[in-house]
Amino acid sequence: MRLQNICRKFATCINTFVTMPSKKFDYLVIGGGSGGIASARRAAEFGIQVGLVESDRLGGTCVNVGCVPKKLSFYCAHHAEMIHDLKDYGFLMSEYQLDWGTFKRKRDEYVKRLNGIYENNLIKSKVELIRGKAKFVGDRVVEVNDKLYSGKHVLIATGGYPSIPDIPGAEHGITSDGFFELQIIPKKTVVVGAGYIAVELSGILNALGSNVHLVIRRDKVLRNFDCMISTAITEEIVESGIKLEKNNQVKHVEKQCDGKLTILLKDENMITDVDCLLWAIGRKPSIELQLMNAGVKLNDTGHILVDEYQNTSHSSVYALGDVCGKFLLTPVAIAAGRCLAHRLFDNQPEKKIDYSNIPTVVFSHPPIGTVGLTEEEALQQYGRENLRIYRSAFIPLYYAITEKKSKCLMKLICHGKDEKVIGLHMMGLGCDEILQGFAVAIKMGATKKQFDECVAIHPTTAEELVTMR
Ligand SMILES: Cc1cc2nc3c(=O)[nH]c(=O)nc-3n(C[C@H](O)[C@H](O)[C@H](O)COP(=O)(O)OP(=O)(O)OC[C@H]3O[C@@H](n4cnc5c(N)ncnc54)[C@H](O)[C@@H]3O)c2cc1C
Repeated sequence: MRLQNICRKFATCINTFVTMPSKKFDYLVIGGGSGGIASARRAAEFGIQVGLVESDRLGGTCVNVGCVPKKLSFYCAHHAEMIHDLKDYGFLMSEYQLDWGTFKRKRDEYVKRLNGIYENNLIKSKVELIRGKAKFVGDRVVEVNDKLYSGKHVLIATGGYPSIPDIPGAEHGITSDGFFELQIIPKKTVVVGAGYIAVELSGILNALGSNVHLVIRRDKVLRNFDCMISTAITEEIVESGIKLEKNNQVKHVEKQCDGKLTILLKDENMITDVDCLLWAIGRKPSIELQLMNAGVKLNDTGHILVDEYQNTSHSSVYALGDVCGKFLLTPVAIAAGRCLAHRLFDNQPEKKIDYSNIPTVVFSHPPIGTVGLTEEEALQQYGRENLRIYRSAFIPLYYAITEKKSKCLMKLICHGKDEKVIGLHMMGLGCDEILQGFAVAIKMGATKKQFDECVAIHPTTAEELVTMR
């Protein structure tokens, strides 16, 4: 009897809660990161009521713990590398020393400024900002700090967070989020992972003077990139002084009395006196939203299941960006968010993001630029007989008079009689900035002949791409 009463009371309580008046929006966006903000602001341009819920700092991963502070750190590391070349260019100099604290303060201030700019932009766009963590309590209804909000259309753009493995002592490590909180450059660092975040952060730490070990499960990093790139960058990593622990894994981590870590590897070797262990082994989707109340299904990797239009399994709930697990890149989330706003509120029912030929850069040392099919994908899709592959390897002019050398590699993958360029892969100084323009040409369907008809800019690294034979 008592149990029955409790159940009745609980049911009344839930009922009151769900029927509590909620603030209603035409479009309610959950997540104020790259995709959410882009979609909310674009939708507001069409004169509808838009609300955006954010539980943390505005701008999401990219602004706070991703692209922006990472690229500034890369620039810092780039300076450290260039210092080694100064004497080769005739500069007589005394010692340069990095004051990491100054750099970090300036980087953090810039990020804070961006947080403010994002907030002002939302105000200017008339998007109502709701601060707090959203969770679904009903059909298109979310609760944030005990208040209810609903949307005719609801977007989930909650991104993701870095994974930590389930091994003893793993909690002594940090992730990419922790990298941006480092108060000093650790003397000795172990980075675990073979993806682009592991490659980028280990490269930055190494250039800034940390003694870096990089632990990878197989024999190469960036294994889903074109084989020329993954082989070459793995060699460059070794060349740069990073100790590459191939075909290995971390088995156990122990914190010593002096605060240093001892790391036991799968091959039973130990790395001792480690100041910082950094996990860069992948990211998980942020789905702690009580999705069971939203009628939204997950796919078999645990990401939100969406079709090419960003529709979830609920007809008026959508998802995009990292939470969907496809192309974890800021411009992809932004483009998907804007397309969705046009589709829902601007009478463009067919609008969707085109996931083909998305250019990608890795800010490694040297940087990598890639767009289109890898050689392995092209072979599988078209067969060797229908492909022509152009390759080039050279030392950029910058290194002509320096002691340190770093090569540049380029590859063009062309298909059919007219040699349409379907893949471009390169690694070398400046390749990060070269890629964008060539990606436009490839997106437009350019052929090798059209590349060649474009007069070269001399002397540049990029000219190689229009002179390859
Ligand atoms: C170290 C690192 C470097 C990177 N470098 C690059 C790069 O150079 N170039 C590039 O293109 N991409 C880069 N990325 C990837 C890029 O940051 C992401 O792809 C992008 O931020 C994804 O955008 P999003 O909108 O899907 O999610 P996010 O930008 O992560 O935004 C999600 C937001 O949702 C909020 N949120 C989550 N749950 C809730 C909730 N329940 N209620 C309210 N709010 C919630 C979060 O606080 C967050 O602000 C990098 C990522 C990392 C980690």
